[in-house]
Amino acid sequence: TTNDSKQSETPVDKLIGGLLTADFDEGSCLSRYQKSSLNRKTSPYKPSTYLVSKLRSYEMLHKRCGPGTEAYKKATDDLVLDESYARNSLHECRYIVWMEGYGLGNQILTLASVFLYALLTERIILVDQRKDITDLFCEPFPGTSWWLPLDFPLMKQIGGYKKESSRCYGTMLNNHTINSTSIPQHLYLHNVHDSRDEDKMFFCQRDQTLIDKVPWLIIKPNVYFAPSLWLNPNFYTVLVKLFPQKETVFHHLARYLFHPTNQVWGMVTRYYHAHLSKAEETLGIQIRVFDKNPGYYQHVMDQVVSCTQREKLLPELATQEEEEEELRLNTTKGEKLKAVLVTSLYPEYSENLKNMFWERPSSTGEIVEVSQPSGERVQQTENKLHDQKALAEIYLLSLTDNIVTSARSTFGYVAYSLGGLKPWLLYQPSSATAPDPPCVRSKSMEPCYLTPPSHGCDADWRTNSGKIVPFVRHCEDIIYGGLKI
Ligand code: GDP
Repeated sequence: TTNDSKQSETPVDKLIGGLLTADFDEGSCLSRYQKSSLNRKTSPYKPSTYLVSKLRSYEMLHKRCGPGTEAYKKATDDLVLDESYARNSLHECRYIVWMEGYGLGNQILTLASVFLYALLTERIILVDQRKDITDLFCEPFPGTSWWLPLDFPLMKQIGGYKKESSRCYGTMLNNHTINSTSIPQHLYLHNVHDSRDEDKMFFCQRDQTLIDKVPWLIIKPNVYFAPSLWLNPNFYTVLVKLFPQKETVFHHLARYLFHPTNQVWGMVTRYYHAHLSKAEETLGIQIRVFDKNPGYYQHVMDQVVSCTQREKLLPELATQEEEEEELRLNTTKGEKLKAVLVTSLYPEYSENLKNMFWERPSSTGEIVEVSQPSGERVQQTENKLHDQKALAEIYLLSLTDNIVTSARSTFGYVAYSLGGLKPWLLYQPSSATAPDPPCVRSKSMEPCYLTPPSHGCDADWRTNSGKIVPFVRHCEDIIYGGLKI
């Protein structure tokens, strides 16, 4: 058939345009090479050859410096022996340790940001594995490991780092305890929603010259800080080469880094084949309720219906005459099947939507099938099965044709950006009413950096951070600031 010949002409691109290395054994992590076969459309976004070559050289560097190597041993020995100050020269292997904390969406966004920073600065990213992250993701780099060994010498103390700590970069700046003649062996970077201006100086060129010399960086971030790296002219030059299509940063990095474990992948594929694969068209709707008493709210339900109908993502309901006419003709007009995947902590949203399209036919004749994988009610970060379900749902959302997500939700950010989709963003309701308009189409598929620096560095000190680089702008879905490509 035509279909077959089409398939043999364009075999599924397992390595995603060279983004992935072929050096892994397939069975250990099925999602790695199977992922592209689930995508209904191949991503129109191809990684640049420069990104591909940069990733291959990163993999070599990680192999040379990673856990179990001579270089890693030396670097950790130095860390213990010479706790005071590092030699004022660039070390062969320098590291950035990512610490786990916060919800899964935050974790995925920050891992990608830290990895991008590691690529730009030729550091090795190591991931704190003490919670359940190893149940979620496979290793991304071949022949080595990105898990921080459990006997890492600073393991006990790094968990307690906060912005007041004397090892925190912002605090050291305030106390004048860091300068080019006294470089510490390690630094803690406070890159969280409550970071101070001093902490955010981390991105600036002058600060980077200093930080570059510190062999070990410890970071426990909860915000997607990649957009601010473009404000540093040194990084900018490399970033435009890595990502000529600027809004593809997270899309490529996420497809490169995050490979769900077999257990999670089983959940994704079973659900996909049960609910999404047979539909002509799919729609993802992610409903996150940021409220003192989160749960089901009628105004949120109304907002979802109004957004999806207004934007023609879901059909209107038929009038009674249309319904009777249809029944008389004993046929549905198009019989097009549209599958709607709802994800939320609360099952009531999908139940209502499902009833809506069961009780009355759609005016277009489309058959609308609504489903929701889980309704966990409360966030239970660090509960293995809960987190695995959350990851499976993020993946499933990313496989839909169109997507509606909730303002400010990193869970939604990951889903649309991974899927290479420009979402419709549901504005955050205030005072228990559905906002009007209910949603806005995002101009890009990049996630938003929710709490960015308000101004630039050095020469751009007095410039609003959304006005420094033309394509790094404020986000559509939050009122004050935010920064995205
Ligand atoms: P954010 O708080 O919306 O930015 O997203 P995070 O992912 O960082 O944190 C929210 C956490 O709540 C998730 O990681 C899940 O543990 C849970 N959660 C929120 N919404 C959903 C959902 O739609 N499905 C599932 N399974 N879990 C959710």
